[in-house]
Amino acid sequence: MTDNKSKFRISEERRRILLVEDDIINQEMIRESVSGTYDLIVAETGEEALTIISERYETLSIVLLDLNLPGIKGIEVLKIIRSVPAYSRLPVIVMTSDSEAEVECLSLGAIDFIPKPYPASKVILARILRTVELFENRDILRFTERDHLTGLYNKEFFYRYAEQLDLYHKDAPTDAIVFDIIRFRTINDRFGKTHGDEILKNIARKALDIVNEAGGIVCRSYADKFMIYCPHRADYGVILNALSVPLGDGENHVRLRMGVYSDVDKTLDIERRFDRAKMASDSVRDNLASPIGIYDNSMREAEMLADRLINDFSAAIRDKQFVVFYQPKFNVRGDEPVLSSAEALVRWKHPKLGMVISPGTFIPLFEKNGLIQELDRYVWSETAAQISDWKKRLNVSIPVSVNVSRIDLYDPNLTDRLLGIVKANGLSVEELLLEITESAYTENSEHIVEKVEKLRKLGFKIEMDDFGSGYSSLSMLSYMPIDALKLDMQFIRSAFGERIDTRLLEAMIRLADSFGVPTIAEGVETAEQVSVLKRMGCDIIQGYYFSRPLPADEFDKFIKFKQPVFV
Ligand code: C2E
Ligand code: CA
Ligand code: CA
Repeated sequence: MTDNKSKFRISEERRRILLVEDDIINQEMIRESVSGTYDLIVAETGEEALTIISERYETLSIVLLDLNLPGIKGIEVLKIIRSVPAYSRLPVIVMTSDSEAEVECLSLGAIDFIPKPYPASKVILARILRTVELFENRDILRFTERDHLTGLYNKEFFYRYAEQLDLYHKDAPTDAIVFDIIRFRTINDRFGKTHGDEILKNIARKALDIVNEAGGIVCRSYADKFMIYCPHRADYGVILNALSVPLGDGENHVRLRMGVYSDVDKTLDIERRFDRAKMASDSVRDNLASPIGIYDNSMREAEMLADRLINDFSAAIRDKQFVVFYQPKFNVRGDEPVLSSAEALVRWKHPKLGMVISPGTFIPLFEKNGLIQELDRYVWSETAAQISDWKKRLNVSIPVSVNVSRIDLYDPNLTDRLLGIVKANGLSVEELLLEITESAYTENSEHIVEKVEKLRKLGFKIEMDDFGSGYSSLSMLSYMPIDALKLDMQFIRSAFGERIDTRLLEAMIRLADSFGVPTIAEGVETAEQVSVLKRMGCDIIQGYYFSRPLPADEFDKFIKFKQPVFV
């Protein structure tokens, strides 16, 4: 690691450092660390330092500032330096044994921090070099903003800084690392936000220690998410342990999850490199046993497929490669099941890849970049046209539910769009049912509830999808504006798993019933499941037991043969 670290330097040109330090031993330590690379000018007091700066600031590369000085204090010197626009190009590194001062100094505009007692001289030199390198590029100053809470760099600055490091260390193997706290929300809920903030600050300090020691830079990108860019190493577990600060309850430590893109490809955008680290982190999502994910070939393949799908999207819409399949839903309340409606599920007939890419792959991808809106609108229109076709051709109205992604709910024109589609196809609003997932409700419940209320006022019927997969409680059924509850498939799976335990399922059906909300069970595959659900009072059943999702023309058979039950 030391080898790589020492490569973190730019050129052999000698530069000038102003060291503001009254302790002779410390002066010597710094002199020894930088000799051969820098010329050193020493000031023993703040006053002396300010005079030197005012006379020679244009020839100085950096100021190393001890906080504990006789006379005017280091912090004051820092404030003065940072208040003079002419000195804005002059980086200041603060040196002190008072770790509490760190955040204050950083927020006052110190670019970096060297803790006392001084680390090995190589480390000192690396940090000075890095800062000087950085400041040689004036543009970067625009981004010198810090995260207020932790004093770490913010993401924008971090990215620019990382690019800058690359310029000077093209060949040094480097790692992109992301980490965050597992269930940080719960910590905030349990201990309060102030305590949560303290934990973040603690972690930030530890992270800074790590990069101070080993080289590299760190930032907080947002909330509990941090990023590190550092010389390549292999001991990620050591970092993770060092970062796992106490939770503050006297016994436990914070649990972190980490994603590593090791030995990055420097031809990729910096954002992309951290996307890869993020992918690696996602791969260990809730795996407490092994919380470190390393970007590998399988992720690379997934990434390439994702790129390809995004690239192919416009052509796919244009050429109508997206095909809507329909899966019937049967009302099971009577003696014989009766076709009640269908769900529209999109399929991609890709010209090269065929139908192998499942919506489980491309839907989340399109949700990430917003393309889902275009796809959903397409599916809604196709579906509405299909309902209209059945009406005309077979003289029967089959309501069909379409999936409304949580992203769609942020579209201010959503209601107009839906109304437009319904109208253009001569339908009434009750014929196009809307499925909204439970997780959309929990994400931003006020906004969503408002939006959904508006749709319902217009007459749209709302089915809450995947209920039981998110975090909402059963009690929210009492005020959620919904017309039907679709129980999550996983939920059915576990009720009918190795051990049959249908108590929870039954309780949910009963509760929904007591609020006057019909329940839909999906993913129902066996006759046994059907009869149990039916006995428990489940209203509607969807699943392979009745049929897989079918292309529209094959779906005709349900309508034709079952038509009598509709009249
Ligand atoms: P979902 O809305 O929960 O849809 C139900 C999924 O379960 C469908 O998967 C369906 O084919 C599958 N399924 C139905 N019955 C059974 C069964 O008995 N057993 C099993 N094992 N599976 C069954 P599919 O079509 O692969 O869709 C996956 C997800 O993709 C959907 O989950 C939905 O969230 C999303 N999706 C599909 N089409 C669209 C769309 O047009 N727009 C949006 N926004 N999302 C869509
Ligand atoms: Ca659905
Ligand atoms: Ca579902």
